[in-house]
This record gives sequence, C-alpha cells and structure tokens, in this order.
Amino acid sequence: MKTLQELTRPNIWKLKPYSSARDEYKGAVASVFLDANENPYNLPHNRYPDPMQWELKTLLSKIKKVSPQHIFLGNGSDEAIDLVFRAFCEPEKDNVVAIDPTYGMYQVCADVNNVEYRKVLLDENFQFSAEKLLAATDERTKLIFLCSPNNPTGNDLLRSEIEKILREFEGLVILDEAYNDFSEAPSFLEELDKYPNLVVFQTFSKAWGCAAIRLGMAFASEAIIGILSKIKYPYNVNQLTQQQAIAMLHKYYEIERWIKTLKEERDYLEEEFAKLPCTVRMYPSDSNFFLAKVTDAVKIYNYLVGEGIIVRNRHSISLCCNCLRVTVGTRVENNTLLAALKKYQG
Ligand SMILES: *Cc1c(COP(=O)(O)O)cnc(C)c1O
Repeated sequence: MKTLQELTRPNIWKLKPYSSARDEYKGAVASVFLDANENPYNLPHNRYPDPMQWELKTLLSKIKKVSPQHIFLGNGSDEAIDLVFRAFCEPEKDNVVAIDPTYGMYQVCADVNNVEYRKVLLDENFQFSAEKLLAATDERTKLIFLCSPNNPTGNDLLRSEIEKILREFEGLVILDEAYNDFSEAPSFLEELDKYPNLVVFQTFSKAWGCAAIRLGMAFASEAIIGILSKIKYPYNVNQLTQQQAIAMLHKYYEIERWIKTLKEERDYLEEEFAKLPCTVRMYPSDSNFFLAKVTDAVKIYNYLVGEGIIVRNRHSISLCCNCLRVTVGTRVENNTLLAALKKYQG
C-alpha cells in the first residue's frame, strides 16, 4: 500500500477540521450548557447531538468486535461513499476502478466529484478476476470498489479474488458489505488488522430494518477513519437516529431472527419463482433479494405495476438483459407476487 499521505488529497491532508462547541467541551460532568447558542427550552431536541456518536459506537463495537476508533458513522452508506471520493480523489486527475454491474451510487458519486470511474465487466457467473481489475488500475487509481454480496446480482464475490486485490492493490479497497448479514460468507471485518488498505461499508438499511433513519457504517484503520471524521459535517448523524440505533442494538436478538426468517423466505421464493412459466433463469443469491431472467422484463415489470406490485427492472444494466431484481418480503407479500405472475399471460 502507498502511504496514507500519498493517497489523500493534499488539501484534505493538511485540513484543520471545524471544531464545534461539543468537540471542545469533553470531560467533567456539567449541568449548565451556555456554549452552543442552543435554545434552553424544548428538551431534549434543543441540544446538538454528540458529533462523534460515542455511545452508539461503543455499543456497536461490542457487536462488531471492532474498537470505536475503527468506526465511522454517516448519513447512510451514501455519505461514506461520497466522503471517500472527497478525501482521496483529486477531480479530473485521479480515478477509481469498480466491478460492473454493481451498486449505482459509486458511479453517481464519482460523477458528482468529477472523478474518472473505470468499470470492469464481471464474467457470466457474476464473478470478477483480480487480475483484470488490477490491469485497469494505474498510478492515479486511488480506490477499488467491490460489493459482496453484489447488488444487483445477489451473489458473494470470491474471497480469494478479494484477498488478491487487498494484497496487491496500492490504494484503498472499498468493500461494501450491505448484504453480508444474509450471506454464509464471513465478514471481512475480521481482516481489518491484516489489511491496512481495507475499508468495509455496512448499513442499518437492510438487515437492521432501519432504512428510514439513514445510518451507514465504515470500518477501517484508525488513520483512515480519522480522515473521514475530519471532513464530515460536524453533526452528520442526528440525535433521533442515534437514539433509534441504540434502541436497535439493545434488541439485536430480533435482528438475528429477521435474518433467519428472510433467508428461509428467500429459499422458498426462489424455489417457487423458478417454477413460473415466465422465468427463464434464476441466479443464486446470498442476499435478501435475487436476480431472475424472465421472458420479457419490461412487459412483466409493467404488468406487476398494474397489479400494485413493484420489483426492480434491471433490463438496461450490464449483463442483466431481461432481468428483474426481486426483494424478499413477508410470506404474504411473496405469495401475492407469485400469484400475480402465475396468472400473467406473456
Ligand atoms: C442498499 C445498499 C446500501 C445502503 O445504503 P444506505 O445509504 O446505507 O441506505 C449500500 N450499498 C449497497 C450495495 C446497497 O445495495
């Protein structure tokens, strides 16, 4: 790996972060807060939230077995995706490499930040070759984006290829594990100490059932987390979100039950979906959704909309011609979808 200073944009490396009132006051117990120009009325929402979310990070560190200094929390994973571009990629000079197809936000953030986005096509099994990905890099490649399980294909990427990238790439490897809770593959969180260039993204939006609160996580070395924390908005995770996330962490057993149920439902839905006359091919899934090739994705998508059922049409995405992406719902929702597709006349 190059040094972190070589990878970081020079203006960011030397940036002195904004110091908020709540940053400067840390320590002894106080009861009179006249430092932040807050309104003394309307407790508790009158107060600015903890800018570093220490209580939440401390609880999270117990579940993730990663110390709080290795955790960044943001306004969804979307914030973390944007921040890695802003921290490491000089517009019009640096570039990033990503698998294709994958999650659309990487390219959107690259475009917003005016950073070249190089795509490397997956093979017919939706796997990637580390060699091909590395061949697409050059001196100015700062980041490689990997997503495992991948969206929209649903499958885990090969661990041996991910490890090869981690060993051989000189820049940072962003590994998006938004769907890892639904996979049998172990998380790369356990490998953080082994690979100083690894950045793992996870989210409260999927297995945790909290898409509405907008909370994303990034895990990396203390130095990388330090850079992301330095450039984030001071109060990027609001108080209501922090409270709700803490409440969820106290009922972790419930999330584990949801995951088990959703994996069982996925198996059921895939098995039944495979039998439909409109299904051409099923792709194996390690996520809470699956991709399926159908006879005519656009027609079937529109038919389902007419029935009040929304799935994701991925027809225009690389390698996903005539594919629908279907999220696993409750048994009742899944059966509603299956019943509608059974009576569909192509
Ligand atoms: C859904 C999803 C996320 C979650 O994004 P949030 O901003 O945290 O809601 C991240 N990555 C991938 C690949 C996803 O599909």
